[in-house]
Amino acid sequence: MAVPPHHTSQTCPNPACGHISKLNRQTQALFKCVECGYENHADTVGAINILRAGYARLACEVSGAAMPPAAGTHRSELAA
Ligand SMILES: [Zn+2]
Repeated sequence: MAVPPHHTSQTCPNPACGHISKLNRQTQALFKCVECGYENHADTVGAINILRAGYARLACEVSGAAMPPAAGTHRSELAA
């Protein structure tokens, strides 16, 4: 399954957050969300986000709903 890789390394994988910022990646190896404080290895975060994007696409195809992926939105401004 092809998933767009953009933002996957800058997006907070916390479902309640989803903050997207370059500042979340202060080092190459570590992801730390500036919004909620979520911390994990950058590679792990990328994998989680790719997985979630893949499931979101799958859910879209199954349900037929036109739900955009979390990447590219600024949900944190709404969820704060
Ligand atoms: Zn976060």
